[in-house]
Amino acid sequence: MSKRVVVIGGGWSGAAAAHAAYMAGADSVVLVERTDYLLGTGLVGGIMRNNGRFTAAEEMIAMGGGLMFEICDEVSIHKNFDFPGHKHASLYDVTAIEPAVNKALVEEGIEVKLIHRVTKINISDGSINSIHMENGTVIEGDVFIDTTGTVGPQKNCTRYGSGCVMCIVRCPTFGPRTSISGLAGAVDRNGFRKDGEIGVMSGSCKLSKDSLSPELSRKLSETGIVMVPFPEKTAEKMYSKLGAKACQQYALPEYADNIILLDTGQAKMMTSYVDLDDLRTIPGFEQARYEDPYSGSLGNSIRYLDVTTRDNTMKVECDVDNLYCGGEKAGLLVGHTEAIVTGTLAGHNAVRQLAGRAPIEIPHDLATGDAISHVRSEMDKPGGMSQKYTFSGSVFFERMKERNRYTTDIDLIQKRVESTGLNDVFSRSVV
Ligand SMILES: Cc1cc2nc3c(=O)[nH]c(=O)nc-3n(C[C@H](O)[C@H](O)[C@H](O)COP(=O)(O)OP(=O)(O)OC[C@H]3O[C@@H](n4cnc5c(N)ncnc54)[C@H](O)[C@@H]3O)c2cc1C
Repeated sequence: MSKRVVVIGGGWSGAAAAHAAYMAGADSVVLVERTDYLLGTGLVGGIMRNNGRFTAAEEMIAMGGGLMFEICDEVSIHKNFDFPGHKHASLYDVTAIEPAVNKALVEEGIEVKLIHRVTKINISDGSINSIHMENGTVIEGDVFIDTTGTVGPQKNCTRYGSGCVMCIVRCPTFGPRTSISGLAGAVDRNGFRKDGEIGVMSGSCKLSKDSLSPELSRKLSETGIVMVPFPEKTAEKMYSKLGAKACQQYALPEYADNIILLDTGQAKMMTSYVDLDDLRTIPGFEQARYEDPYSGSLGNSIRYLDVTTRDNTMKVECDVDNLYCGGEKAGLLVGHTEAIVTGTLAGHNAVRQLAGRAPIEIPHDLATGDAISHVRSEMDKPGGMSQKYTFSGSVFFERMKERNRYTTDIDLIQKRVESTGLNDVFSRSVV
């Protein structure tokens, strides 16, 4: 009888999980997404391969889980460039990326179901056997993967942020995020800011490139980066925002003293929000206009709510025996690369379970495996839910450097992966 993997949430982790399940030999894979696009918060991000993310991406490529990185590389507008605190970054085109990923998944035969918001699950004999959509559709499956992320719904942005700021997640139109792990009885936890406030504010906005002066816009397109000092009074306000950001790798003085714009096709502004009146006093920004979130004058989306509990194979720790997780849902790891890593492992292990084979862990000798296990154990410590982790900076990048895991030497990365025996593991069928 044909066995089906059902992935719920089409962000980077869900896309990677669906692809990994296909590669591992699942008979059928369905990817269910509540909005009309794949990629979730990845629709407004774009920064890849900065600092330790380079190492993580190359480890995944050596393990056979490289497709998502290859697609990002293909649609990157700027490659191998530096910006404050970050080296050898690339920036994907935020408009081109979603159709490219969608096409790749559909060509593999993965059923991509957009505008399908899961609201209920059905459990029998300790296993989930179906998910139920708001639109009345029911999808049955054998193993399920929760990649629903941690952003929204509106009530959380109102309670812990500045209200709905009309971000790319578009809760008012497509309905709230639903925690599948929560429905399955797992203990979901919230992340905290440094000041103890619940949730974490997203750390960048998008300005329309056309709304910048022609000189600024041209410079941004040519060089990938524009840095303009904030007036002193605005910089003071910007300092107070650094600790609230999800992306602690950008909580550096340069990001409070200056407006830093990166070219992702639009102008990615590396701060949570700036009052439009303040912004428009700066030469070149007189006509600035927000593309995401629309209310970027006031605040940004709130994330890291309902993070679930899981083991190092990405299996959710709860009463059901067939639920895996990936991405932000799986812990306080921030970023597209991080979501692709955990989503890939979840998709692969889901098929191993179907095939009656033991799940794998990525060993902690590799940066990717260390991130998965380290973040899990750190979250259980007192105060652990207020830290954020990423390969690209802050505490985890320091750990990578201390343990000699950060390198841009691709041959060395391949040798390290080979020494674990996991080379090409994600590209081989396990059934
Ligand atoms: C403004 C912003 C800028 C960022 N910039 C960068 C960057 O430049 N580089 C970087 O590496 N990282 C960046 N990040 C972080 C990065 O986007 C995330 O950490 C990562 O992409 C999370 O992926 P995910 O798949 O875990 O979750 P999400 O992207 O949140 O995806 C979850 C998906 O699940 C869907 N979903 C939720 N509930 C349901 C349901 N009930 N039924 C069906 N579908 C559901 C959602 O609609 C969504 O598409 C940025 C984040 C934001 C918000």
